[in-house]
Amino acid sequence: MTNKEDIFKNLVAHAKEYGFIFPSSEIYDGLSAVYDYGQMGVEMKNNIKKYWWESMVHLNDNIVGLDSAIFMHPRIWEASGHVGAFNDPLIDNRDSKKRYRADVLLEDYLAKIEEKIEKEVEKGRKRFGDAFDEAQFRATNPNVLRNKAKYDEVHARMTEALSANDLAALRQLILDCEIVCPISGTRNWTEVRQFNLMFSTQLGNVDGEAGTIYLRPETAQGIFVNFLNVQKTGRMKIPFGIAQIGKAFRNEIVARQFIFRMREFEQMEMQFFVRPGDEMRWFTAWKQTRLSWHKALGLGDDKYRFHDHEKLAHYANAATDIEFEFPFGFKELEGIHSRTDFDLSNHQKFSGRKLQYFDPEAGESYVPYVIETSIGLDRMFLAILSAAYCEEQLEGGDVRAVLRLPACIAPVKLAILPLVKKDGLPELSRKILDDLRFDFNCQYDEKDSIGKRYRRQDAIGTPFCITIDHDSLQDGKVTIRYRDTMEQERIPIESLRSIVSEKVSMNKVLRQIHKIG
Ligand code: ATP
Repeated sequence: MTNKEDIFKNLVAHAKEYGFIFPSSEIYDGLSAVYDYGQMGVEMKNNIKKYWWESMVHLNDNIVGLDSAIFMHPRIWEASGHVGAFNDPLIDNRDSKKRYRADVLLEDYLAKIEEKIEKEVEKGRKRFGDAFDEAQFRATNPNVLRNKAKYDEVHARMTEALSANDLAALRQLILDCEIVCPISGTRNWTEVRQFNLMFSTQLGNVDGEAGTIYLRPETAQGIFVNFLNVQKTGRMKIPFGIAQIGKAFRNEIVARQFIFRMREFEQMEMQFFVRPGDEMRWFTAWKQTRLSWHKALGLGDDKYRFHDHEKLAHYANAATDIEFEFPFGFKELEGIHSRTDFDLSNHQKFSGRKLQYFDPEAGESYVPYVIETSIGLDRMFLAILSAAYCEEQLEGGDVRAVLRLPACIAPVKLAILPLVKKDGLPELSRKILDDLRFDFNCQYDEKDSIGKRYRRQDAIGTPFCITIDHDSLQDGKVTIRYRDTMEQERIPIESLRSIVSEKVSMNKVLRQIHKIG
C-alpha cells in the first residue's frame, strides 16, 4: 500500500512531469520556495481565478474589482503594522544549522499528540465495535486523558508566550517538550529571535533607509488605500466590497510542503466595507458563502472545516480559517477576518487624509468596518490538485494516474484524437478542433496509440476525449470517452458542442453558491 507521504511525493513529481508546476530556476538548482506554473498549470490557475472573480465581482452588484501596484508608499506598511509586527519567531539548531519557526515546531508537536489521541480512539472503536461510545471513551480513557492534559498545557503555554511576545518562554517550552531537530536529532537550540517577513528593496537611485520600499506581503492594503477612490468613482453605497487578485511576497522562514508555503505567491482578497456594528452579521454571512464556494466544486464536503481563532490579531474582533484536508493534514486554506476599522483609521492617521464614508441613510459620516476574505491562489491550486490526484488500480494490474479535476477547472476540456494519422482522419479532426476551440480549450493529439493518448489526457485531467475513426467519415459520429468512468459512447459530431459545453461550464457550479445577504 502506498501511504499518504508517498502519494504526495508522486503528486509533486506528477505536477512537474505533466507541465503543471516546475521548481523556479531549475537549471540553476532551483530557488527555495519559489515555483513556476507550466503550460497546464497556468490554464488551471486562470480557471481558479475566473471562478473566484466571477463569484465575487460579476455575481454581486455591490462588489467591484481592483488591480493595485505591488510597490506602495513605505508609510503604508507602518500604518498597517507590518513594519513593527509582521514577524515570525525563529530558532536555529546549532548542529544541523537548520532554521525553524518556533511556533511551527510546537504546532507540529501538538499535532503529534492529537494523532496519538485519535489512534487511541480508533483502537477503542475496533475493540468495542457497535457498542463503542466515543464521547464516553474520550472522557474516561486514561491514555486519552493524559495526552489531552499534555496538549492543553502546551497549547496554553504556547498561546500565552505568543501573545506576550515572550521569546524566552517559547524557547523554554521547546526545551520542556524535548523537541528535537528532525535533521540532527539534537536539542541544541539557539535563542528565539524575531524575524520580519517583508522583502525590501531600494526605490530608484535613493540609497539607505529613506529609499527602502517593500514588496507587498498582502494585497489588502492596496484595497484600503484606494477605498475612497473606488467608493466615489463607483458611487458605491455601504455595504460594498473591493476584490483583488495579485502577487504577495513573504520571506518565509520555513518553506515546505511544495506550493503550500511560498515566498512569492498570489492572493485573492476581498474587503467588504460595512456599517460599524453590522460586522458580526456580515462575518457570519461571508463564512457561509465562502464555504459554499469551496463545496460547490465537489471535492468532498468532509474535506473542509472551520477553525475559529481564539487568539485574535490586534486588529481583529473575529477570525476564522477555512481549513482543507491536504495530504499532510487539515491546514489553513482561507482566512475570514473581521478587521474592525483598524486599517482605514490607521491610514487616516498616517496619511492625514480623511477616509470616511457619509451614510445617507444614517445621516452621518463614519470610518467603515471591514470583513476580509483572503485565500491563497496557490494553496487553492494545491487543494484541488491533491483532491483530484488519484492512482487507480485497473483490471490486469495496470495503474492509471488520473486527475479527477472539476471539469470547469481542468486545463483542457476536450482532447481530439484521430485513430490513425492518415486516410483523412487528421483533416476531419482538425475541422472539429477549429470549430470547437472557440467554445472551450481543446487539444489535438495524433501521436502514439489511442491507449497511451487516453492516459496522457487522464494525467492532465481532461474530462472528455473524442476519437475520430474511419466510420466517422461515413456516419458523422465520433466516440466520446469519459475520464472518470472510462466509458465510451458514439455521438454525432454536431452534438459535441452542446454536450461538452454543458458539462465544462462554470455557470452550473457558480449557481450552486449561496448568495450572500
Ligand atoms: P499561515 O498561518 O499559513 O502562514 P497566514 O495566517 O499568515 O497563513 P494570511 O496572512 O491570513 O495567512 O493570508 C491569507 C491567505 O494567503 C492564507 O489563508 C493562505 O491561503 C495564503 N498564504 C499566506 N501565506 C502564504 C504563503 N507563504 N504561500 C502561499 N500562500 C500563502
